[in-house]
Amino acid sequence: MPDKFSWIKDELDLLQQQGLRTTIRTIGSACGPWMVVDGKKVLNFCTNNYLGLANHPRLKQAARAAIEEWGVGPAAVRSIAGTLELHRRLEERLARFKGVEDALYVQSGFCANQAAIPPMVGKGDVIFTDRLNHASIIDGCRLSSAKVAVYEHCDLADCERVIRENRGEYRRALLITDGVFSMDGDIAPLDRLCDICERHDIITMVDDAHGEGVLGEGGRGIVDHFNLSGRFDLEIGTLSKAFGVMGGVIAGRKVVIDWIRQKARPFLFSSAVTAADTAACLAAVDLLEESTELVRKLWENTRYFKEGMQGAGFDIGASVTPITPVMLGDASLAQQFSKSLFDSEPGIFAMPIGFPTVPQGKARIRVMISAAHSRQDLDTGLEVFARVGKEFGVI
Ligand SMILES: *Cc1c(COP(=O)(O)O)cnc(C)c1O
Repeated sequence: MPDKFSWIKDELDLLQQQGLRTTIRTIGSACGPWMVVDGKKVLNFCTNNYLGLANHPRLKQAARAAIEEWGVGPAAVRSIAGTLELHRRLEERLARFKGVEDALYVQSGFCANQAAIPPMVGKGDVIFTDRLNHASIIDGCRLSSAKVAVYEHCDLADCERVIRENRGEYRRALLITDGVFSMDGDIAPLDRLCDICERHDIITMVDDAHGEGVLGEGGRGIVDHFNLSGRFDLEIGTLSKAFGVMGGVIAGRKVVIDWIRQKARPFLFSSAVTAADTAACLAAVDLLEESTELVRKLWENTRYFKEGMQGAGFDIGASVTPITPVMLGDASLAQQFSKSLFDSEPGIFAMPIGFPTVPQGKARIRVMISAAHSRQDLDTGLEVFARVGKEFGVI
């Protein structure tokens, strides 16, 4: 009998040959600046734990208390019997935090895009989308059946051109952009995009997964950073990065959120987030509202690390956020570099990123800075990077 799945083996072999087969490392301890990875204790520059909340005692305590009170699973979708008082409380708190009328909490940031886009546009409508937008936006656009018109990355002139060429032919229009672009750490020119959209009667949506807890006053995000509160229509976010927990959020005007609540398929057809996760998210909002200290520390660490890397002679791209790409160019060089970092003493955990996540010839190591890193951690990271950089002749 022929093997029904021999094609998969061929495809996997091909990925292997191209250096594109992902090795998935296994974590053996809680998320923090130092973690056990594949059995070795290493200094972690990989997670999106911007504020160090993923293992924070207040969040853990909130989750434990919620399990005692609510149990472990809601056993229902939100629209049938899964909407807990905790979910509503979190949604009210997130709306207040972001300065909008209402918010909807869903299972993940990925889900949030699938939940928010199809109710806003469909057949006969058009979506304007940045070329480098996140995969969950791309999938959300496809699910909507609207025409998708791509503009070049953060290119306002191209964006206007694409809008002028298409806007007239379609009923409704939606523009979607990442706030912070996760591979380069640059940010969308949201104020200018907002101006353009107001001129052409286009609904505005930003996915601020890497901006929440990072940009704006006390981590209120990119809309706050650009002072666009009240002008911008929809903010998509995640509770799984700076907030340190799990889940996604859609925030905006009440009428819009009411509509999405009626129509969003991940909300209607997939079970609610657990009480423990929801309570931990509430504790994260408490912390962010109480103090801006963690956000300040994140930026202080970011500046210190970037200055150190530039001083050592590394090319760290055009990032303006804690995401620090260490540009290496060649994909296999990036892989070997990452492996040498990991095998050093002490080991450094920083993953290589290559095609198709970034363009061919733009491979890099992506360093994620956290408020949880101590000054000594950052010095250790800089020292090992310099050592490995010299070994490879990169600096
Ligand atoms: C990480 C990310 C997501 C996915 O968020 P999850 O909560 O992990 O599902 C969505 N959009 C962008 C831009 C992201 O960077």
